[in-house]
Amino acid sequence: MKTQNSKFKIANGNNSKLKIQNSKLPAATIQNSKLKIANGNNSKFKTQNSKFMKIRTGFGYDVHKLVEGRDLWLGGIKLDYELGLLGHSDADVLIHAICDALLGAANMRDIGYHFPDTSAETLNVDSKILLRKTIQLIATKGYRLGNVDATVCAERPKLNPHIPEMQRCLAEVMNTDIDNVSIKATTTERLGFTGRMEGISAYATVLIEKD
Ligand SMILES: [Zn+2]
Repeated sequence: MKTQNSKFKIANGNNSKLKIQNSKLPAATIQNSKLKIANGNNSKFKTQNSKFMKIRTGFGYDVHKLVEGRDLWLGGIKLDYELGLLGHSDADVLIHAICDALLGAANMRDIGYHFPDTSAETLNVDSKILLRKTIQLIATKGYRLGNVDATVCAERPKLNPHIPEMQRCLAEVMNTDIDNVSIKATTTERLGFTGRMEGISAYATVLIEKD
């Protein structure tokens, strides 16, 4: 593989080495599973495997059905709406997606593994409790939240006016700065189950870090 222009060059000199050279950046050599970066002032670091990774990313996704006769909990707050999400817990779909992203980042399975929906303990439980426990779970491996970025897909109710309150609430639960908690809302243009208002879905990505 070889790409060459005035700023960027990749040369694959032999079977096992990949070199990336850029006139503004230090030379990097990737060999087998090891990464070595050396720059002009002799500083060096090596990353050999994920055991030593100080940052990791995770992704979460969740869906709950909208039904009559349930309260609508989203992002840790109760919204005034005629339908609510159905679930064993309070069915806070946004919190569940964030929990799954955190657990995934730490490679600690998923929310159903730790908080089964067959357990009496999790019946109608406030999902903020599950989120707090999830933060404690990743801390057992030395990780804390870096930042979260989440998207909720819902045709109604309109979520944008409630986002600052959700951010404040979740930042407090996760013991982090509000600037580390991004929440976005979108409709799906009336398409699919969210567009037909049959349910609400949520996606979340997180970065976790340790010293
Ligand atoms: Zn859920």
